[in-house]
Amino acid sequence: MSRFFSEKYAALTPYTPGEQPQDMQYVKLNTNESPFPPSEKALRAAAELLRPLQLYSDPDCRRVREKLAQRYGVTPDMVLVTNGSDEALNFAFMAFCDSAHGAAFPGISYGFYPVFAQVNGVPYEEIALKPDFSVDADDYCGIGKTVFIANPNAPTGIALPPAQIEKILHSNPDNVVVIDEAYVDFGGESCVPLVHKYENLLVVQTFSKSRSLAGGRLGYAIGNAALIRDLDSLRYSTNPYNVNSATLALGEAILDDEDATRQNCAVIMENRAYTAGALRALGFEVLDSRANFLFARSGQIDGALLYQKLKARGVLVRHFTRPEIAQFNRITVGTRQQMDALLTAIRAILEETK
Ligand code: PMP
Repeated sequence: MSRFFSEKYAALTPYTPGEQPQDMQYVKLNTNESPFPPSEKALRAAAELLRPLQLYSDPDCRRVREKLAQRYGVTPDMVLVTNGSDEALNFAFMAFCDSAHGAAFPGISYGFYPVFAQVNGVPYEEIALKPDFSVDADDYCGIGKTVFIANPNAPTGIALPPAQIEKILHSNPDNVVVIDEAYVDFGGESCVPLVHKYENLLVVQTFSKSRSLAGGRLGYAIGNAALIRDLDSLRYSTNPYNVNSATLALGEAILDDEDATRQNCAVIMENRAYTAGALRALGFEVLDSRANFLFARSGQIDGALLYQKLKARGVLVRHFTRPEIAQFNRITVGTRQQMDALLTAIRAILEETK
């Protein structure tokens, strides 16, 4: 830290993204990216749609906003478009939390929530999961804080039904409830239809997972127009050109090819079922995932050791050191070939540690 760094950030622990090692070609199952690139059709269309790069990108993200509105049955003024959904989440912490409105989220969830709270000087409460690793909606009922829930949750993959989320919304009428649906397209149930009923609901989604655009950085939030105006005023106060033109063109083209997105999600869900079955047959406990990853622990080998041994065999998964989940690894669901490579490596590791 330099002597110039503001004291207000002295205690900040930055978010640690999943590793991206360059030393060899890994079977990369550690950051929940899609194994499929955007469709050829979408890539071709994006080239046509690209606004001249000597001009600034559209600060209203009008075309993507309109297409998202149409896709989700809302009006364009109910949609905020952001540089990845991380940016939408950060804006939500900035807009709807302060020292009087602290944040509450599960203790085991997306690791960025406590970082966003810290960087914005927001007090926060981390609420334990149930022993089965699910979120207990009752813990958030009447909590009187701004609630952040990833649904499906990460890294567990477990989803809450929207009826449970409704209990939280209904019992916290004076607080915003942010539902982070980064993984909802892999078999979860979206809360977007509830934005018409609850003025305190903000749903955040991303193009990074089901829509194969992690590198493009495109996210969005859907909520009532007043919430979106609040977020937009922060966007216009920080970076009005937050989404670049190439990404907007890609986003638009990908939204015009929803069949490709649906097909990719179907393949991933099929591969998820296949891999979960194979892991269970090898003695793993595998949580019920509605996301594009599995969270699994072996009774035979320590979680950190399995992670290391997989890495040594060229398979990257994500291990978290938090004691409650240190026996688990989070495994992104990829192609069938990638899943077979993972399973072959795990079988060999289990054999050598017998
Ligand atoms: N929410 C959750 C639960 C996530 O796991 C991620 C991805 N790491 C994000 C949001 C952010 O994704 P992005 O910024 O790529 O849209």
